[in-house]
Amino acid sequence: MEATTAMALNIEEIREDFPILHQEVYNKPLVYFDNAASTQKPLQVVEALTNYYLNDHANVHRGVHYLSQKATDKFEAARETTKRFFNAESSDEVIFTKGTTDGINLVAYSFGEAFIKEGDEIIISTMEHHSNIVPWQMLCDRKKAILRVIPISDKGELDMEAYQNLLSSKTKLVSVVHTSNALGTINPVKEITQSAKSVNAYVLIDGAQAAPHQKIDVQEIGCDFYVFSGHKIFGPTGIGALYGKREILEAMPPYQGGGEMIKTVTFEKTTYNELPFKFEAGTPNIADVMGFAVAMDYMNSVGYENIQAHENALLKYATDQLKQNFENVRIIGEADNKASVISFLLGNAHPYDVGALLDKMGIAVRTGHHCTEPLMNRLNIPGTVRASFAFYNTFEEIDLMINALKRAEKMLM
Ligand code: PMP
Repeated sequence: MEATTAMALNIEEIREDFPILHQEVYNKPLVYFDNAASTQKPLQVVEALTNYYLNDHANVHRGVHYLSQKATDKFEAARETTKRFFNAESSDEVIFTKGTTDGINLVAYSFGEAFIKEGDEIIISTMEHHSNIVPWQMLCDRKKAILRVIPISDKGELDMEAYQNLLSSKTKLVSVVHTSNALGTINPVKEITQSAKSVNAYVLIDGAQAAPHQKIDVQEIGCDFYVFSGHKIFGPTGIGALYGKREILEAMPPYQGGGEMIKTVTFEKTTYNELPFKFEAGTPNIADVMGFAVAMDYMNSVGYENIQAHENALLKYATDQLKQNFENVRIIGEADNKASVISFLLGNAHPYDVGALLDKMGIAVRTGHHCTEPLMNRLNIPGTVRASFAFYNTFEEIDLMINALKRAEKMLM
């Protein structure tokens, strides 16, 4: 174990907030390294959900009574928290969604409806998650628009020169991942946005894997849309947020029709509500919004600098240990700027077999294509074993994974 890492975080104290981590699976201590798929929840988030249902529940925005107003105040306070999380200019630019996928689909339908026409081009990249590919393919089918793809290098970095060459007056939207879930690559989203703006294209950033690790600042990036999911930032499932610049959201038609999103309805004509409610039809996921805000507060209390310092140390330690202990390990994704995600292959062993053996030794990793099939095809591999770390992970847990991998190697080769 690495003894020299200066740690501002008291990891043992933090782990006390995550009871789920203190369990055994198959009589072995659980090592949870599947954080890129979903992170665990601190007690504070779980208590926020319980507290809401025990003390505060009523429908929001419509009631004159005490409980409804209390729920509404807390719901809108959570929107303020989300605004600060994004560093958005206004909370009117914050739309609650079901998560990243839902946010991208909202933009693909609504922005797509108003802004995309036949022959327009939408640029994505080779390392996109399926949820940042398929909605655009569907939009291109509907509108007879064209999807263009930024290639990547063997290290797993975007080919920025190729990107510049793809940009033209036909480009209407650039939609790229901030941090790759499969490779860990952190993309230069500010530079990507600036280039897109030089041809007057709009920009969406998929922040599903960036939000758990770093401070998000949509004004600094300059993007038009930014999306992420609650369940990846230590919050509940089924909740997330979309940031959209006010003037673009104003110009977009509603995504879904129903209650909450209207101002007046007659059989002849309906007028729509103001932002952000125009995009939030129906009773929202009130309880999970409460937990979502507490998760953001929790991340703030841990501190982004602390999170990054610890996770970077974990990433370096795990990468070094893998390389030192396994002659035939191949790390997939060696970008200079990387988040705490390591994808790898061990010799000719199938990732699934490695993952299944690690599981029996208490180590939870992800195996497969990680919803990035086109990326796996580009790299000519069936998938990877992926260990992804959060701030509550430890160097000892990495040692346990390395020992388990040694045993797996003996069994498989
Ligand atoms: N984009 C990226 C980069 C992701 O990692 C994920 C989740 N694996 C998604 C989008 C989709 O997120 P969700 O399933 O929470 O909608």
